[in-house]
Amino acid sequence: MKMFPTKKSQVIENLMNFSTKELSKYSKKRNYDLGPPHKNVSKLSPYLRTRFITEEEVLKIAVSNNDIKTIEKFIEEIFWRTYWRGWLESHPWIYDEYLDKIDNQVISKKTGIKCFDNWREELINTGYLHNHSRMWFASIWIFTLGYSWQSGANFFKNNLLDFCPASNTLGWRWVAGLQTINKPYLATSDNINYFTNGRFNPRGQLNEQVNLNYTERNSNHILELIEPKRVEFRNIDQLGIILNKNDLTLNHIFDNMKIDYDCCIYSIKHENKLINKFNKNIIQDILINNKNFNFFEEYNQIINWLINKKIKNLILPYETVGNKIFNNEKFKNKLKVLDINYHFFLRDWDRNAFPHATKGFFNFKKKIPNLIDLIDF
Ligand SMILES: Cc1cc2nc3c(=O)[nH]c(=O)nc-3n(C[C@H](O)[C@H](O)[C@H](O)COP(=O)(O)OP(=O)(O)OC[C@H]3O[C@@H](n4cnc5c(N)ncnc54)[C@H](O)[C@@H]3O)c2cc1C
Repeated sequence: MKMFPTKKSQVIENLMNFSTKELSKYSKKRNYDLGPPHKNVSKLSPYLRTRFITEEEVLKIAVSNNDIKTIEKFIEEIFWRTYWRGWLESHPWIYDEYLDKIDNQVISKKTGIKCFDNWREELINTGYLHNHSRMWFASIWIFTLGYSWQSGANFFKNNLLDFCPASNTLGWRWVAGLQTINKPYLATSDNINYFTNGRFNPRGQLNEQVNLNYTERNSNHILELIEPKRVEFRNIDQLGIILNKNDLTLNHIFDNMKIDYDCCIYSIKHENKLINKFNKNIIQDILINNKNFNFFEEYNQIINWLINKKIKNLILPYETVGNKIFNNEKFKNKLKVLDINYHFFLRDWDRNAFPHATKGFFNFKKKIPNLIDLIDF
């Protein structure tokens, strides 16, 4: 069976199976990388990243099959991505600094470190790596092979099905000892041996001791979050929705409110064939289930669609740091010329959580029970 199916029905079926068979053991087993098909973790990240499935949908299924107390660790992990996204919203320059310093250091195909070479192959062939292996891989990349963390983050960016600017950049920074300042994550051969069940043991091959002395601090400046105002959409007509990789199910909110709209999906070609095929196929599944939706790969097609459909009010998924598609002057000026009102829609999930994500995860974690209470289970 495919590790990453592209039909929503199959994703839900897999999640049901995972919830009933694996989730109760998740907190004990999640750190083991036993190789594909990685049954001990959910493999939901490519779908959550695009909201092909939402965090709420996942939690509703997880909670319907388990006592919520027994799956706290899983819930916490789901919130990690929310936290990283919120944190980057209040520290946007961190992403710009990463973009400024990307270089294209290319690793040789074989480094001689068997685990590392294996993970590199796995990532290229499947578009996925287990979380622990991402940590080990990043650590070896930076501290044993001596490459820059930015080039490693870029390597992940070009190969991950679930690439998320916040989780990836901040994950690499965390390993590098920049996120929790001067506390790098050091991969050790014993830890790798233990958590791969003896599949790998790079004894003597890793740099297991590093002293860092960064003076940079993140928390001194925090950008205040300005959340978009809530809008009442009920009596708005000629409504259009553009779905994209930031949110492929935003229209469901309007379905639930029984509000009519026209909808299109926008997605540009990805240079990586595997990622491109995955993106195309999940979009295809949405198009099959929504025959009246259009699909566009070009900016001009979007403009023509807005004109032809006589859209007067436009909804787009909110664009967080690193995820800008339409939130630019060119597009917004065009909407002005066409006399179209627009709104970048921030889901309640993010709206409620982001204000708590400006400092460390420890502080954020305390708010998770309150955030869970806001979900209508
Ligand atoms: C260097 C590095 C780079 C990373 N890059 C990305 C990335 O680009 N995109 C991405 O989604 N995750 C990234 N992660 C986080 C994590 O590795 C993946 O989310 C996780 O491995 C996905 O597998 P899963 O769905 O089976 O996870 P599960 O263990 O089943 O967790 C369920 C969900 O919780 C979220 N989650 C779990 N762990 C984390 C975490 N540490 N940080 C953020 N969210 C988490 C994901 O959405 C995941 O799908 C990165 C981690 C590191 C160390």
